[in-house]
Amino acid sequence: MKEKLISLVVPMYCENEVAKECYKRLKEVMKKHEIPYEMVFINDGSTDETLSILEVIAAQDKKVKVISFARNFGHQIAVTAGIKRAQGDAVIVIDADLQDPPELIPEMIKLWEEGYHVVYGKRKKRQGETWFKLTTAKYFYRFLNSITEVDIPLDTGDFRLMDRKVVDIFNNMPEKNRFIRGMVSWIGFKQTAIEYERQERFAGETKYPLKQMLKLAADGILSFSFKPVKWIEGTGIVIFLLGMLLLFFSGIYGLLVVIGGIQLFAIGIIGEYVVRIYDEARARPIYTVEKEINFK
Ligand code: UDP
Ligand code: MG
Repeated sequence: MKEKLISLVVPMYCENEVAKECYKRLKEVMKKHEIPYEMVFINDGSTDETLSILEVIAAQDKKVKVISFARNFGHQIAVTAGIKRAQGDAVIVIDADLQDPPELIPEMIKLWEEGYHVVYGKRKKRQGETWFKLTTAKYFYRFLNSITEVDIPLDTGDFRLMDRKVVDIFNNMPEKNRFIRGMVSWIGFKQTAIEYERQERFAGETKYPLKQMLKLAADGILSFSFKPVKWIEGTGIVIFLLGMLLLFFSGIYGLLVVIGGIQLFAIGIIGEYVVRIYDEARARPIYTVEKEINFK
């Protein structure tokens, strides 16, 4: 039987403090377990030395491939580009900062060999993250789960292994506002979890400021649920009925303000969907590549 190739997809945005260590740790694990591999690093428009560090690594190790974006497109897009160019029979997505322990990779591969098509990491505990991030993430995943039809597993990020079958389908999903963990759940097949403790960042700071967390949350909700629109409808009906009642009592001007607020909010939610429709309809590519290294 031909040996199976594993692709490691690693997005990097301004990771000059971790890039080298990340490569080292990944390589150590793959060597130790004699797993044939390639690494696909995506430089997501870093403004630091990340690209030159990757260039040095790729010059010495032809198994290391680099895609360098022409600007910063964000984590989900970087992962998308890496998965697209990965050649492996299975693809593993892992963060550069070593918060997802590379030592789990052999376990993921074992489950894959047992027949699972997707093996995702489920965070049991998270080290060294702010109370704010922990709490918002916890409740966000539970909320999302309660309003979506696809079962998106709780407390999972993008650290996961995907079989070639799943990868090929994923690569044919052209949507631009990408919530990858949801998309992979949507694809289906045999999926399973391995629990792990999320580590502290090896070095550097999070590249996910509040603004990007909100964008990811919005993509998760708006691309996997139409419930917000239903809520608007429901609220509209209730308010209409209340208004009919109030006709008899009039003089309640406060109600106008309340209704005004609800209307604006409702238009806002609808706007969110419309903007996304527009974004998809424009059919622009989802990223631009400045440079590729070691691809044949
Ligand atoms: N990342 C990226 N583009 C971005 C932001 C982040 O490629 O615009 C990468 C980052 O380098 C890291 C991964 O995505 O490998 C996760 O980011 P980070 O560790 O900062 O997020 P956190 O773990 O704090 O949620
Ligand atoms: Mg991190």
